Amino acid sequence: AAAAEEPISPPVQVNYTQLLIDGKFVDSASGKTFPTLDPRTGEVIAHVSEGDSEDIDRAVLAARKAFDEGPWPKMTAYERSRILFRFADLIEKHNDEIAALETWDNGKPYEQAANVEVPMLARLMRYYAGWADKIHGLIVPADGPHHVQVLHEPIGVAGQIIPWNFPLLMFSWKVGPALACGNTVVLKTAEQTPLSALYVSKLLYEAGLPEGVLNVVSGFGPTAGAALASHMDVDKIAFTGSTDTGKIILELAARSNLKSVTLELGGKSPFIVMDDADVDHAVELAHFALFFNQGQCCCAGSRTFVHERIYDEFVEKSKARALKRVVGDPFKKGVEQGPQIDEEQFKKILRYIRYGVDGGASLVTGGDRLGDKGYYIQPTIFSDVQDGMKIAQEEIFGPVQSILKFNDLKEVIKRANASQYGLAAGVFTNNLNTANTLARALRVGTVWVNCFDVFDAAIPFGGYKQSGIGREKGIDSLKNYLQIKAVVTRLKNAAW
Ligand code: ADP
Repeated sequence: AAAAEEPISPPVQVNYTQLLIDGKFVDSASGKTFPTLDPRTGEVIAHVSEGDSEDIDRAVLAARKAFDEGPWPKMTAYERSRILFRFADLIEKHNDEIAALETWDNGKPYEQAANVEVPMLARLMRYYAGWADKIHGLIVPADGPHHVQVLHEPIGVAGQIIPWNFPLLMFSWKVGPALACGNTVVLKTAEQTPLSALYVSKLLYEAGLPEGVLNVVSGFGPTAGAALASHMDVDKIAFTGSTDTGKIILELAARSNLKSVTLELGGKSPFIVMDDADVDHAVELAHFALFFNQGQCCCAGSRTFVHERIYDEFVEKSKARALKRVVGDPFKKGVEQGPQIDEEQFKKILRYIRYGVDGGASLVTGGDRLGDKGYYIQPTIFSDVQDGMKIAQEEIFGPVQSILKFNDLKEVIKRANASQYGLAAGVFTNNLNTANTLARALRVGTVWVNCFDVFDAAIPFGGYKQSGIGREKGIDSLKNYLQIKAVVTRLKNAAW
């Protein structure tokens, strides 16, 4: 991996570490805290209040009151919309501080946080601000002398549990639609990255959010997260994270009050390169599809299927590209890859690299940690990967590319679909027929043709199979946060 030199010094400071309940920062009921760590070094950034079930109770109570009595669902939609628009303006105003906090806590390159992720957060919030006053029901035809209205109402208190890989985007995908539809929220952030959500939530209150409408509880999954998923007074739970945890959430929801559930879970997305491809371009896109965000993407193109006619050339060029990848301190200029999020993930990825070697795949480049401090991993590539290998089946969530060989369209469709997951796929070809055939045949929620990781606000995202339930972003995401009520009125005198 190549090294970076020139440091960037954005304003970086931790202002908020407590829980945000009913519009105020408060300590956890137990008084406990947990450390959040800098993935560059493993050193403590700050001690953050640790929420548990008692804090979830307090947060749900505040959200309940803000929903049942508070002004939020009863406010005009235009007022709600304006608060969200003002929030987006404040995000832009504080772009660099937010990005710096995110990089510090998460390890992602500052340039990406500042130029892509935080601007996307503002973009997403504006998208949902725009929806707030455009959500309305229907009048539908019915038999008999009936006047039938279908009302779209907010569901109530939404519990939301988010992961650490894109803390701010996950915030926007969850909080945006929930608030636009008039719900109130209790958000449980990931224990690895509690800081940025606290910072931006404070901005949302500055933008005029009424007390209790958004509550943020930092803490761990089996305690705070489970308490939220099983709470009797939470009407909806939305979760993004691993498939195993998603199953637990669904079970907790079922065992408690049958709250409605949306899940965005793991993936093992195929990236299919046909033999008509411009190899250099395909290599670059496949590289991006896997290595972006340190490989920590649920939709990462983690099974690179390459046509046998161009396979050897593709592997050689992918190796050269990986060797050029700039890995290092995410606060340095030009860095493409920072450290992995924490020691647990770091060790897990190294374990998968060993599975790859032991399982008989060819290690093309990388294969080890980088340096001796922090959680950096060398960009790693395996070739000659077979479908049955662990590295071709399970989610690695790190900078490890597996390149598989195929020779025919029908075969690659079958192999690409032979996965428990169905989140996304990449297709690289100039042949219209091939592109459209693959787009239809792949059992996944997103097919990117000659592109990857395009995440515009209006594009729905979500999984087939064990990659999830429901869609986020786009018009479909509103359904997750709306109750539907039919009002049927019998007309006394239908003859007019
Ligand atoms: P990862 O392995 O990537 O950390 P997880 O699915 O474990 O993914 O975590 C995603 C989110 O789910 C985090 O906010 C985490 O705290 C939460 N979580 C983990 N376990 C549970 C659980 N048993 N109940 C509720 N939430 C959980």
